[in-house]
Amino acid sequence: MKKLFKCSVCGYIHEGEDAPDFCPKCGAPKEKFAELDKEASDKVYASDRTNDIHMEIVALASKIQKLALEGIEINLDPPCVALFKNAVDEAWVIKQRSKAEIAGHVGKGKW
Ligand SMILES: [Zn+2]
Repeated sequence: MKKLFKCSVCGYIHEGEDAPDFCPKCGAPKEKFAELDKEASDKVYASDRTNDIHMEIVALASKIQKLALEGIEINLDPPCVALFKNAVDEAWVIKQRSKAEIAGHVGKGKW
């Protein structure tokens, strides 16, 4: 079974039979890695898909903002522009809510 090893320098988490020779993120040597215990590993695996969903929601909200800004620029009529302005603001809330949740997960080792 694969194990998880965390870089003590940058926090990168490696999956494998052994720690990597060098951290692919910061270049720290193998000795800087520590194997995660079962509880910590379970948190990482359990939160993996949830964090991906949050990131996809952030990407979709960014797309909504982009579309709404295009709609504002077209300026078809005032109600339409008002709707697009609301969409920009609402998409911001959606993005920031998911980002804050991800930040909370990271603080609890769920990433
Ligand atoms: Zn590192």
